[in-house]
Amino acid sequence: MKKFAVIGNPIQHSKSPEIHRAFAAQFDIDLSYERLQAEIDEFAPTATQFFASGSGANVTVPFKEAALRFADELSDCARVAGAVNTLSKQDGVITGDNTDGIGLVKDIRDNHAVSFRNKTVLIIGAGGAARGVLLPIAQEKPHSIYIVNRTPAKAQDVARAFLPHGSIYPLSFETLNAVTTPFDIIINATSASLSGEALNLSEKIFGQETLAYDMMYGKTPSTFMQFASQSGAVALDGLGMLVEQAAESFAIWHGVMPKTQEVIEKIRENL
Ligand code: NDP
Repeated sequence: MKKFAVIGNPIQHSKSPEIHRAFAAQFDIDLSYERLQAEIDEFAPTATQFFASGSGANVTVPFKEAALRFADELSDCARVAGAVNTLSKQDGVITGDNTDGIGLVKDIRDNHAVSFRNKTVLIIGAGGAARGVLLPIAQEKPHSIYIVNRTPAKAQDVARAFLPHGSIYPLSFETLNAVTTPFDIIINATSASLSGEALNLSEKIFGQETLAYDMMYGKTPSTFMQFASQSGAVALDGLGMLVEQAAESFAIWHGVMPKTQEVIEKIRENL
């Protein structure tokens, strides 16, 4: 039986074992998939020990950059994102990939039938999750992508690094809140929702045609989702992204793409 795990700290909250076991049941694949907590400075020894017998691992907060350094080889997506959420071992070589971005794109584009093509996209946040989604979003050929971040220098660095891949521009919150035309798609890639903090946003950036997407998910709508809905936008959470990024990891490991809809519904029922 092949061994898989999700490595993070903390890790008890992770839904990945449930998701991967549900996918495996679709194909009668026999696997083990466990939660593995690594001490903060101990990602590499924990992963080395796991891969002595393991075939693949998902990596979550705060180890996505440590996983990038740990991998022997990287996919383009992981290299550009500077972060790895999927490690696979084949013939003794460990490859690092990043499926967060394609997971987000598939949830928005396929599950919710919202195209990125020629749209104006705003990404709030410039951390690992924002970097992970930029290349797959840019590949969908939006009109432009703007990035705003609490620490403006980080938004500028990320925009500069991504410029070869599309029209990506940094914005300050002051400039953003002077904007009077709504964006088509607004993605909250900050961790502000985790603490229920409100972002400093003007309601004018949301319109009736705006999709407001919070990467965070929970039993109830986040502060960001509530503000977006009150400002007239359609608001979604990141549960679909979570399941879709897992499906991409599953396909990398097992060579088959699982169905996601029922799994999204089942995980939502148990939030
Ligand atoms: P990081 O710690 O790398 O980045 C956090 C970002 O949030 C930074 O840009 C930071 O700004 C910003 N931020 C934090 N608090 C505030 C605040 N109070 N006001 C404004 N900005 C704030 O985290 P990640 O990028 O890894 O994760 C971000 C979110 O995405 C998390 O909620 C995570 O759960 C979610 N996520 C969801 C996934 C899914 O599958 N649904 C997958 C991956 C992530 P600054 O630079 O100024 O510190």
